[in-house]
Amino acid sequence: MRILVVEDEQNLRSLTVKRLEEEGYSVDACEDGREALEYASMTEYDAIILDILLPKLDGLQVLRTLRAKKDRTPVLLLTARGAVEDKVEGLNSGADDYMAKPFSYEELLARLRVMIRRQAVDVTENRLELADLSLDLNTREVRRGGKIIQLTQKEYALLEYLMCNKGLVLSREKIEQHIWNYDYEGGSNVIDVYIRCLRKKIDDGYPNKLIHTVRGMGYVMREQA
Ligand code: CA
Repeated sequence: MRILVVEDEQNLRSLTVKRLEEEGYSVDACEDGREALEYASMTEYDAIILDILLPKLDGLQVLRTLRAKKDRTPVLLLTARGAVEDKVEGLNSGADDYMAKPFSYEELLARLRVMIRRQAVDVTENRLELADLSLDLNTREVRRGGKIIQLTQKEYALLEYLMCNKGLVLSREKIEQHIWNYDYEGGSNVIDVYIRCLRKKIDDGYPNKLIHTVRGMGYVMREQA
């Protein structure tokens, strides 16, 4: 999952990026409203964490511009403490959630998970399921047929993205956009390499394969080929 953090206070910005990266998110960050719109126009983010008080364009203007362009990316607004009118205006302008500063990262992460989950095709409680494969979005535990499967952070991120979109064919470009950020410089076959690793852990030894290649198009998770 790829997140954009828009925050002009440098310490808060870098701390937020660090915490999100520790959770396995791929993160881009910028410091003013105009940059935020540029980033959002170039990449399909899974969520945007948007401060309201920003240079050039404020967070509410950014949010309204996005929504006017039919961009439905989930947005979590950060408001100054006690700024109730900001909160109301933010929600009216199409924000999905808001948090007052200072906030705890545990809460931020929990709310982020909820926002992203709402976007997913089909989620039961906090789990994504397909056949006998299940992913717990809170604990990040992955099981197939009851057996726990250990994944690296990137493998988990890839599997989570595929499972959130199960049944949909995802192109390599789209997968790459959602799993890696702009700092990433890898070969064009990196997605294939990660898919191979995932298959080994998820599908090897099971008669019903869940990860499928769609020739010329990309990858899809579903029960039948
Ligand atoms: Ca600010």
